[in-house]
Amino acid sequence: MSESKFAARYRPETRLVHGGILRSQFGETSEALFLTQGYVYDSAEQCEARFKGEDPGFIYSRYSNPTIAMFERRMIELEGAEAARSTATGMAAVTTAILAPLRAGDHVVASKALFGSCLYVVQDLLPRYGIETTLVDGLDLDQWQRALRPNTKSLFLESPTNPTLDVLDIPAIAEIAHKGGARLIVDNVFATPIWQSPLSLGADVVVYSATKHIDGQGRCLGGIILSSEAFIAEHIHNFMRQTGPSLSPFNAWALLKGLETLGVRVRAQTETAAKVADALASHPKISRLIYPGRSDHPQAALVKKQMRAGSTLIGFEVKGGKAAAFRCLNALQISRISNNLGDAKSLVTHPATTTHQRLTPEARAELGISEGFIRFSAGLEHPDDLIEDFAQALEKA
Ligand SMILES: *Cc1c(COP(=O)(O)O)cnc(C)c1O
Repeated sequence: MSESKFAARYRPETRLVHGGILRSQFGETSEALFLTQGYVYDSAEQCEARFKGEDPGFIYSRYSNPTIAMFERRMIELEGAEAARSTATGMAAVTTAILAPLRAGDHVVASKALFGSCLYVVQDLLPRYGIETTLVDGLDLDQWQRALRPNTKSLFLESPTNPTLDVLDIPAIAEIAHKGGARLIVDNVFATPIWQSPLSLGADVVVYSATKHIDGQGRCLGGIILSSEAFIAEHIHNFMRQTGPSLSPFNAWALLKGLETLGVRVRAQTETAAKVADALASHPKISRLIYPGRSDHPQAALVKKQMRAGSTLIGFEVKGGKAAAFRCLNALQISRISNNLGDAKSLVTHPATTTHQRLTPEARAELGISEGFIRFSAGLEHPDDLIEDFAQALEKA
């Protein structure tokens, strides 16, 4: 097999199409799908060398696989990381990145505005294994600073946050982590690798649910952990091999195809989100609208500093609480009700009754998730169709 060398030399758009290609002796144009569990060896000596790590070939698809290796390589080149391991889902990536380096007695600090399952891992799962956790208001740097203890090993955050799209100061929080001898792990799903590069902002580890924008076409689940060679080798490599939350080669193949169009999709979806946000911002039925690309976003200056553009997502609050929000959701003809995001199809979510229904009403209120709050994920439809659809649905709200 021959490997392409696209890292660093070319711009992200070019790397998204050509990065990480491993071509077989057949010279295929499109990335080959190696739907194989295992590999055979030319000799017992070669087999021995491979197990000793002296021969670079593949051993078993729980460990690695050529299609999966292509996906990881392309993501490494896009993100500017040294190494990566892909996983079966985004949650497998988050859980592995957080849990694998820790042991009983360690301490984790996380922003409380997290995707529901990430909150479960931090708040419920870790303490069961003797790992203490502190949740902070991610916007308040003093709270991060004060939460740090001598045994703090990891800080974890998402930015922009789900679903209220707060933007957290990654360079400042990375500095707090490093001064305290801890690492910063960033879930970069909402920003996408197109608009934000946490490693270049000082983070140590980046995780993705590839299910979202990277696939972006509603087909398969996947995830990836990107970091330094040392972090992956020391903390992730063996954990992944022995516990097996591995990505399927088929899904890796779909995700590789997803990466080819990631740049054009995210750009188009962001432009659409910006247009929809501008159209809805002053609507009489909407009491509050949050869009990281608008100058009225609470952290607009920070958005300019650490992101290359806004987001494919909008949050807004319909006047009249849950009943009005439901009437609006039910009246939409194009945007479909879903808990997913980043898809080619526009999707709307009611976080209070879905992704964040596990929280107490007080915890939701603290996060700004009111009963009338709706999250909109812009798809690839014509923006004017989406705007007209919202206009008729909000009339019924
Ligand atoms: C969806 C999502 C996840 C989990 O990803 P899955 O692929 O569904 O397991 C984690 N973090 C964020 C921010 C997400 O949006």
